Amino acid sequence: MRTRTDELRANLVQVQERIEKACQAAGRARDEVTLVAITKTFPVSDVRALAGLGIQDVGENREQELKSKAPECPELSWHFVGQLQSKKSRSIARYASVVHSVDRSALVEALSKAAVAEEKTLRCLIQVSLAAYGTADAATGASRGGVAPADVPDLAAQIAVADGLELGGVMAVAPLGADPEKAFAGLREVASRLRSEHAGADWISAGMTGDLEAAIKHGATHVRLGRALLGTRSPLG
Ligand SMILES: *Cc1c(COP(=O)(O)O)cnc(C)c1O
Repeated sequence: MRTRTDELRANLVQVQERIEKACQAAGRARDEVTLVAITKTFPVSDVRALAGLGIQDVGENREQELKSKAPECPELSWHFVGQLQSKKSRSIARYASVVHSVDRSALVEALSKAAVAEEKTLRCLIQVSLAAYGTADAATGASRGGVAPADVPDLAAQIAVADGLELGGVMAVAPLGADPEKAFAGLREVASRLRSEHAGADWISAGMTGDLEAAIKHGATHVRLGRALLGTRSPLG
């Protein structure tokens, strides 16, 4: 019988091939790109199975799920990738080592206090809005979150001096209707401007199941993959 672990193993093999090919096409070394498995809506048994297959980085987009799964697998590196309310900062600081979705000043303050209270250093990525590259988002006024590229330097300066926080780089989601190539090329420019001011902020978290090739072509250091690894999610995810 084909078990869930067999299924996850087969998915992982395919994903690794996609990443490998994309790195080759971009003239990049495979070890420049870290795979973060986004396990939202899937049970902790899947997280354990992925860990058994060699996955070390796992991400969630809701505090509730992070809080319930992370303590079960403390040996993994947990990433928080979702929209975040300041009042959930303490829990995020406790269970995550990286927050990909820092998008406002008040959140920096809250995460800083929380990280200090947890006596740890939390790596923070600034979520950048690429809405300027999307047609659908622009038309509906809907946003997938993040700060405008012009606002990155101020937020970066704030994170860089905040106790308990470490400025790690940028994160983005390609907007609906966007050409991911153009959107991620734009993100790369934002990232290199950031790096010229903050040398250690060298992560670019970009690329999901549908657009990881474009992201790797444009310098992604962390791809966040859900469906390609775990399969289709229930609508809530
Ligand atoms: C769900 C999610 C992902 C993974 O998306 P897939 O299309 O399933 O690969 C990546 N990043 C964020 C912020 C997400 O919420």
